[in-house]
Amino acid sequence: MIDDKTRLIGLIGEDTRKTSSPFIHNKALEIVAKNYAYLAFDVKDNLDKVINGLKYMNIKGLNITIPYKEEVIGYIDELDELSNMMKSVNTIKFDNGKIKGFNTDGLGFYMSLKDEDIDLKNKNILILGAGGAARGIAFALSFKENSNIDIVNRNYKKAQDLVLDLRSNFKDKEFKFNAISNLNLKNSKYDIVINTTSLGMYPNENKTPILIDGFKSTCVFCDIVYKPHETLFLKEAKKKNHKIIYGINMLIYQALLAQEIWFDYKFEDINLVKEGILKDLKSN
Ligand code: NAP
Repeated sequence: MIDDKTRLIGLIGEDTRKTSSPFIHNKALEIVAKNYAYLAFDVKDNLDKVINGLKYMNIKGLNITIPYKEEVIGYIDELDELSNMMKSVNTIKFDNGKIKGFNTDGLGFYMSLKDEDIDLKNKNILILGAGGAARGIAFALSFKENSNIDIVNRNYKKAQDLVLDLRSNFKDKEFKFNAISNLNLKNSKYDIVINTTSLGMYPNENKTPILIDGFKSTCVFCDIVYKPHETLFLKEAKKKNHKIIYGINMLIYQALLAQEIWFDYKFEDINLVKEGILKDLKSN
């Protein structure tokens, strides 16, 4: 219940009408009984006025979404190590007059693998796509683990740019890039394949970025598209008896990690909170 002690947290972006973030955050707040309310705001080219105004409103923190994840850096006093490498921020915290910046997007994906006890050490990972989400995931996985990452994209140049950026930040790790159309999956070496393209999502529900053919039986398939819950890509992988990871897990975990930053605490059982949100999200 909202009362005189309730404080605000929220999301700023450009078109936040359909976001699931308020549902996820408010459900988590309810589960752990925190007296906060999470709201989404479209700020329409007024990032400057909004951030400067919010500084004086006793707000704990905000999520930042498209198209402000890079621009917001100009207002931040301290970036953490990962967001500084990525040059992208999805979470800010107002802390004793300072604004601190973080990025929990890729870490949320990392948590969704850890949740399933997927070992990432020295594994061969294939990322399909080279947009903002691919960037978050590639940086977070490289930051956390020692794996080899290949990135393929329809626009070859974007995969190349991302790989060059990764190489300059993680000098001891291996990254390769290719055009998705050049991908040869015969006797594929990959242990984990991640779809970060928007193929599979409305209005492309009947599309999949690659055919599930030529992979090791142990290869794990992940999709970060979460609407529909089970994409064609995941359906095809499931048919071939591969382990699959749903995109909704990343979305929930990036939110819970943001709450850990704002509230300076660790959920006792983060998986249990995630399951609680997931159950209600599905029936919603
Ligand atoms: P983005 O920056 O716009 O990147 C889109 C990616 O999809 C690019 O790699 C793009 O390739 C590729 N793509 C788009 N249409 C394609 C097509 N017809 N054929 C082949 N590739 C195509 O978007 P984003 O922020 O990375 O988001 C990507 C997807 O992830 C979206 O569906 C989004 O909803 C989802 N997402 C999920 C989460 C989560 O928490 N689960 C978080 C963030 C995003 P080109 O570069 O060649 O155009």
